Amino acid sequence: MDQVLGLRCTICGAEYELGQVEYICPKHGDDGILDVVYDYRLAGRRISPDRLAGDRAASIWRYLPLLPVQADQTRQLVHGTVLDSVGWTPLYPAPRLAAQLGLQHLWIKDDGREPTASFKDRASAIAIAKTRELGYEVVTTASTGNAAAALSGLCAAIDQANTIFVPRTAPQAKIAQLLVYGARVLLVNGTYDDAFELCLQAAPAFGWYNRNTAYNPYMSEGKKTVAFEVCEQLGWSAPDVVFVPVGDGCIIGGVHKGFKDLLALGWIDQMPRIMGVQAAGSAPLVDAWERGLEGWEMDPVEAHSVADSIVAGLPRDRIKALRAVRESGGSFIRVDDEAIVAAIPALAQGCGVFAEPAAAAAYAGLLQAMGQGLVSAAERVVVLATGSGLKDVATAIKSAGQPAIVEPDLADVRRAIG
Ligand SMILES: *Cc1c(COP(=O)(O)O)cnc(C)c1O
Ligand SMILES: [Zn+2]
Repeated sequence: MDQVLGLRCTICGAEYELGQVEYICPKHGDDGILDVVYDYRLAGRRISPDRLAGDRAASIWRYLPLLPVQADQTRQLVHGTVLDSVGWTPLYPAPRLAAQLGLQHLWIKDDGREPTASFKDRASAIAIAKTRELGYEVVTTASTGNAAAALSGLCAAIDQANTIFVPRTAPQAKIAQLLVYGARVLLVNGTYDDAFELCLQAAPAFGWYNRNTAYNPYMSEGKKTVAFEVCEQLGWSAPDVVFVPVGDGCIIGGVHKGFKDLLALGWIDQMPRIMGVQAAGSAPLVDAWERGLEGWEMDPVEAHSVADSIVAGLPRDRIKALRAVRESGGSFIRVDDEAIVAAIPALAQGCGVFAEPAAAAAYAGLLQAMGQGLVSAAERVVVLATGSGLKDVATAIKSAGQPAIVEPDLADVRRAIG
């Protein structure tokens, strides 16, 4: 793993060697989120666009020299298992949606197609590789649902013990995934924040490896692979604008990191504008961005939305999220629940991708941005569809309306289609 030089604190810039600290910069309590620092010259000798063109691995593992894991051990661990199909999701051109919006180039990146049906597989796959590499017997996480489903599903693929903390109110489909995959599930009588704090205490108390978002520094590294894939799928050119749904801010921070890696390697020549989309009822990052606040100046707010995966009153990865938007010249955008729900059938009928509410929010954000004049017609736009619509069937049905009922009789069909 000599491609990794160390870990750098996102608050004070202090640098640590691997093994010197495990999760966070000890100077700031649990907020000292670390960023992984690479030796790009070394990585660039092991991987290149040319070599990737001949690599048949259809997963995040095609980028192993740019990931913070031991390459050979990880290759062996994932070989032939479900873990080997994380990532390399389709990037669909969406010409009909583009035409409706007055755009020339629009693509939808469909991460509902991940093994557990959400983007979180990208991060959980790295968490499992690190669990094995560091010699832990159990891995744990707190989650609003998808991160836990991803961890438990990928653990099941390789018989890895795991303990999950989710709020009792987590959506049924996501809890069903945990139980079916055989995780030890603890439903916390409290909020996601309560589950997060409990998990932080339990991990050291019981000797478990902690996957928590924006605490474990390696989760952004898994999430950055989406930026690699988008650029590779576009023939090694970066799009002009990328829309990302934002809750804790780990995905958007990872997207930013991925494009920065590619710029440092010289594989792309420009950073796209990164657009963070939040639900209006859970938009503390939009507020902070508008008011010019830094992540450490933000206070928790009461948060609620139909898009459960992006509800976060104090986004855990707020420092990286604000930097992603500010440093890329992007914007934060708020969309109300009505627009989110309407975006589900609009996206599905416009290109065949069925998204959960949080994922549809990114598309609603594009609509909003077009209205605000933030995107121009000739720009190349990518929308991240981060989770499958099957994660929340109740909202999907509300968004699309009820079907017609007919008697088993042709005349009634004639009446119904009339
Ligand atoms: C977790 C999640 C998000 C938001 O990611 P953050 O890292 O919390 O900002 C968006 N969409 C889906 C489907 C998710 O599961
Ligand atoms: Zn620090």
